[in-house]
Amino acid sequence: MSRSKRIAVLGAGIMGCSVALGLARRGVAVTLVDAAPSPFSAASRWNEGKIHLGYMYSADPGLRTAAHMIEGGLCFRPLVEEMLDCSLEPVISGGDDVYLCHRDSVVDAKAMEAYLHRVSDLVRSHPQAGRYLVNVTRAGPSRLSPRELAEVSGASEIVAGFRVPERSVQTRWVADRFAAAVAAQPALETLTDTRVTAIEPIDGSPQGPWQLVTTDGILGPFSHVVNALWEGRPAIDRTVGLEPVPPWTHRYRLALFLRTRTPVTGPCAVIATGPFGDVKNYNGRDFYLSWYPAGLVAEDSGLEPPVITAESLPADEDLAAEVFRQLGTLVPWTASLPAATETLEVGGGWVFAGGQGKLSDPAATLHQRWRYGIERHGTYLSVDTGKYSTAPWMARELVDGLTG
Ligand SMILES: Cc1cc2nc3c(=O)[nH]c(=O)nc-3n(C[C@H](O)[C@H](O)[C@H](O)COP(=O)(O)OP(=O)(O)OC[C@H]3O[C@@H](n4cnc5c(N)ncnc54)[C@H](O)[C@@H]3O)c2cc1C
Repeated sequence: MSRSKRIAVLGAGIMGCSVALGLARRGVAVTLVDAAPSPFSAASRWNEGKIHLGYMYSADPGLRTAAHMIEGGLCFRPLVEEMLDCSLEPVISGGDDVYLCHRDSVVDAKAMEAYLHRVSDLVRSHPQAGRYLVNVTRAGPSRLSPRELAEVSGASEIVAGFRVPERSVQTRWVADRFAAAVAAQPALETLTDTRVTAIEPIDGSPQGPWQLVTTDGILGPFSHVVNALWEGRPAIDRTVGLEPVPPWTHRYRLALFLRTRTPVTGPCAVIATGPFGDVKNYNGRDFYLSWYPAGLVAEDSGLEPPVITAESLPADEDLAAEVFRQLGTLVPWTASLPAATETLEVGGGWVFAGGQGKLSDPAATLHQRWRYGIERHGTYLSVDTGKYSTAPWMARELVDGLTG
C-alpha cells in the first residue's frame, strides 16, 4: 500500500528530516526539499536544545503550554536514538537547570514556585515519565537556599532560584548525525538549494496528486505533501488554500555557541520570565549563551518573514560583548568564559510562534505556546513544529498517519 505513495517533504530541519527518515524506513519513496545548501542548517542546528517539560512557561499558569509540550519532551530521547541508531548520552547537559526569577519577571517568585510544582506533578505522573533524558521521577523542583542562590547569582535583580530536572542536548552534534542518516537512506531523495514557492493540485483536488513549484522548476507528481518549512510554512499553506490563522510572530534570534580551552564550572541558568537570557553548560567545555534583547534581530507578524541581510545582523564581537556583559552581571560565574574561550560561533535562526506581543507584557499571547501541531487539507499536511523538543514526537504521529 505505502509503496504506491510518493511523498514530498518540505524543509530539512528536525521536523522534515524526522518525517522523511520515518517514511523512507517504512518503504515510502520520499523527496526532501530545502532552500539551504545542506540539511539541518537553520534553527534545528543553531538552538539551545532544551528538551522542554514546560517549566519555562510560568506565564501560562493554566498549564496548557506545559501539557502540550510534556509528552514530546519525554519521548525525545528514545525517538531520536532510534532514528540515529546511537545514544544521546554524550551530549546531554550535565546538571539540572536553575530557573532564576528576575525582579522584573512577568511572574513573581511565589507564583513561579507554585507553577513549577504543578508542572512537576504533571511530569512525574505522566505515563511516559520514565523515558526522559534523565530521571524525572525523583523529588520535584527545589527552591535554592539564600546561600545557594548567592552562589549562582548574587545580583540584586535575582529574587529567587529553583532547580528543576530539565536538560538539553547539543544540537550541532545531533544535526550532524541527522544529516548523515538522511544521506545514508537509499529511499530518500534530497534536493537542496531548492526553494519552494507554491504547491499546486494537478487535477484541482485536495486529494492530490500535487506538484511543487520551485526555483529549480516543477517537481512531481506527489501523492502527498508534508509542509515542514517552519518560517516559510504559512506562505506555502496559503498557495493551497490553507489559510494561516493568526496570531503568529516570526522572530530571528541569535545566540553564542562556545567551547573553552579548559573546563569551567557553573550551573545551567535560565533567567525567567521575560526578555532576559540564559546560559547552558553542557559538559564544562561547551556552552550556549543568550541575552534576548541583544540576540533579537527581527520580529514581524507578516505572512512571510522579513529578509535577513548581512547588514541587519550585529557584528559577532558586539553581540558577544553584550551577551557576556549582561550574563556576567546576573550569573557571575559566566564572567570567566570570555578569557577561557577557544572557539566562539554566533548562530541562530527563525522562531515561528503562534502568539504575539512583547515578552515583558504578562498578557502577551507569545507566553502561550500550545497553538502548534498538524493540519490536514486532503493529502496535503502542514506541521508547525512548535519546539525542537516536540518535533520527533509529532513526526512519529505524522508518519504513523501516513503509513498506517
Ligand atoms: C536561538 C534559538 C534557540 C532555541 N532554543 C530552543 C530550545 O532550547 N528548545 C526547543 O525545543 N526549541 C528551541 N528553539 C526552536 C527550535 O529551534 C525550532 O522549533 C526547531 O528547530 C524548528 O525545526 P524545523 O524543522 O521546523 O525548522 P528548521 O530547522 O528551521 O527547518 C526548516 C527548513 O525549511 C527551509 N525552508 C524555509 N522556507 C523554505 C522554502 N520556501 N523552500 C525551501 N526550504 C525552505 C529552511 O531552509 C530550513 O532548513 C530555538 C530557536 C532559536 C532560533
